[in-house]
Amino acid sequence: MNYPNESFFHGQRSSEGAMPVILNNRFLLLYGSQTGQAKAIAEDIAEKAEAKGLHADIHCLSQTEKKFKIERESCVVLVISTTGDGEPPDTALKFVRHLKKKTLKSDYLSTLNYTLLGLGDSNYTNFCNCGKTLNQRLLELSAKPFYPPGWADDAVGLEVVAEPWIENLIPAITHFLKLPLDNNQSARSIGCKKERDTGSLMNSVPPLSESSLTVPILSPEYLKVDFLDTETVNVDELPLQNGCSFPSAASPVVMATVQSICTLTAPSSVKKALAVTISIAGTGITYQAGDAISVVCPNPPEEVEALLKRLGLQDKADTPMQISVIEGTKKKSAAVPKHVPPKCTLHHLFTTCLDFREPPKKALLRALMEYTSDASHQRRLQELCSKQGAVDYTCFIREPSVGVLDLLDCFTSCMPPVTCLIEHLSRLQPRPYSVCTSSRRYPDSLQFVFNVVEIPAGSGRSYHRKGLCTGWLEGLRSGVSAMSKAEDGGDNRSEDSKFSMTGDGDKTGSEAMNTGFGDSEQLSLQMQNLSLNNVKIPIFARTNQNFHQPDDLTIPLILIGPGTGVAPLIGFLQERAELKRKNPEVHHGEVWLFYGCRHRDRDYLFRDTLEAFVTSSVVTRLCVSFSRDDQPADAPRYVQDNMRRHGGDLVTLIQDKGACVYVCGDARNMAKDVNETFVDIFAEHKGLTKDDISGLFMKLRLEKRYREDVWT
Ligand code: FAD
Repeated sequence: MNYPNESFFHGQRSSEGAMPVILNNRFLLLYGSQTGQAKAIAEDIAEKAEAKGLHADIHCLSQTEKKFKIERESCVVLVISTTGDGEPPDTALKFVRHLKKKTLKSDYLSTLNYTLLGLGDSNYTNFCNCGKTLNQRLLELSAKPFYPPGWADDAVGLEVVAEPWIENLIPAITHFLKLPLDNNQSARSIGCKKERDTGSLMNSVPPLSESSLTVPILSPEYLKVDFLDTETVNVDELPLQNGCSFPSAASPVVMATVQSICTLTAPSSVKKALAVTISIAGTGITYQAGDAISVVCPNPPEEVEALLKRLGLQDKADTPMQISVIEGTKKKSAAVPKHVPPKCTLHHLFTTCLDFREPPKKALLRALMEYTSDASHQRRLQELCSKQGAVDYTCFIREPSVGVLDLLDCFTSCMPPVTCLIEHLSRLQPRPYSVCTSSRRYPDSLQFVFNVVEIPAGSGRSYHRKGLCTGWLEGLRSGVSAMSKAEDGGDNRSEDSKFSMTGDGDKTGSEAMNTGFGDSEQLSLQMQNLSLNNVKIPIFARTNQNFHQPDDLTIPLILIGPGTGVAPLIGFLQERAELKRKNPEVHHGEVWLFYGCRHRDRDYLFRDTLEAFVTSSVVTRLCVSFSRDDQPADAPRYVQDNMRRHGGDLVTLIQDKGACVYVCGDARNMAKDVNETFVDIFAEHKGLTKDDISGLFMKLRLEKRYREDVWT
């Protein structure tokens, strides 16, 4: 299509072929979302901009060339997340690839003025990498920032940076477009932090309790629900989440048969680790050691019941209903969310589609205010979603992971219609797990390992719960509910709860302890241990895996995986053992494995398997540390201690022998600590400066010789 260069005016076409409608208040708003957060933030920006008389032309980055041409634009706002090991979201790949082309001239974007909000998680090493590299590339292509980029961190709450950034963005766009600022629009300084006194989810203290408040704009209602009392709907036949594709999915969702679920830790272990073995025969799913699969898990039925009861909808739970858009709604681009089947039941909706455990977003708190009768409740909700109450929101909602059910338990006078929740709750997300087997050894099955997450009642959480997916998987084995009510007062732990059911028939103990997947004898033992042949779980293969071992077996490996982080490393070793067995004459490079746990006798995962790998020379050196055992003061407690002990060898392996490093497990602390330990080791043994070392490790990462598979 041949149309005028929009960069000369802030224009928008009315319809194809017609004269362009020139809007001097228009800007292009682009988002690249993996899980929907960037999209939600972009929509928020659009709403706020509209409220200030601006026009946001909003598109997903995947629409590049179809709906927009970046080189023809004049004023662009980008919101982009980072996934995996610093990669762009799937929806942004085409856009990023286009801009990366070496053939583009350095003035390619000379008419573009832009700003960018990057979303990331500082628990991961390449924080906001996609946003940062995109920003760098835009500058290289002569685009000019009209407002500084923001880097929002999911580890502390995206809103901490995103909210003030957006607040100042609107006047910045207005200024750039040379439109008059209205009285309420003036830039304020970003990121001021204030100290929190005390308070709780329900109660605030001065100055917040006495402040006048600035709250988010109430987003217009746009959905309605009609119950179809005379109709039927077979929810068992509905595709999962309305057939909407899952982010990072590299295969369709398939039902995989669970073959066994084994406890790998002793009953006295602080964390319970389970190994789930599933059959993938006939599913079409294939995998390589180091890959992950995603499990699509439901919400716990007890919580669904509790929520429906709280909403006064228990008797409608299984009545067919039609969800549709209210005619004439003021909501822009209103539509039934793609992951919600327009015709289903409340049971189906809350069990499989919506995440009601996530901390409610401020827009939801704002909406809930409208349905709250008690003035003190309303005021507190107002505070929690206000600009002035940002610290309280973080402390009392986000950090303790308070969900909407907890909130409704506390704010008893709040009675929202179900449509309010459908409009505001996010999609229920699948959980990825790293595979700990080799398909060379087990082509028709795979295993993964996880800790069962325990989230006690208290700090605003009105009941004890387990991690959504880990609790569900554990429950498949024992048939035990993962939900138990808090005692009065809310702070008691689950074990004491009158509702808790702990007799789970746990088959832990010597026979399950330390069993790995390493030997087929052990596999059959596990099968006998627990036979679950009729239990199937929805899974899919994941893309973006960057955690494969090199094809060249002579390259030495340094493997670091404490706790459940050892899982994919076991897959690597199984693969090498298999290749060694088939071709004993092929030379294998050295393999050093650093593993750590709390206690040798309680949570040393895959002990027999790992020791067997040493005996068969698949592992050259096994360095294990125990953080809580009674041992001499100089004994290594963490993987980092063992790394320091063998610092000289590690430097030789990396610098002289070309070793590849694989770090796997906890992103919160471990991955960063391991990184810092490498810096110390290279400083000590090579006398390099911090800058030299970070340059060296940057190079190793680029060469894919330093890889991480980490999660929170
Ligand atoms: P959720 O219901 O998601 O609950 C976990 C969340 O609850 C935490 O993030 C935290 O916000 C909150 N929480 C936890 N404890 C508390 C508390 N005390 N107070 C307040 N809030 C709390 N995990 C593994 O175990 N093994 C693996 O091999 C593995 N591989 C992965 C691979 C990839 C690529 C990725 C991205 C993740 C991987 N994970 C792995 C993590 C896994 O996907 C899940 O996130 C994890 O199992 C928890 O899921 P859940 O649904 O049980 O917990």
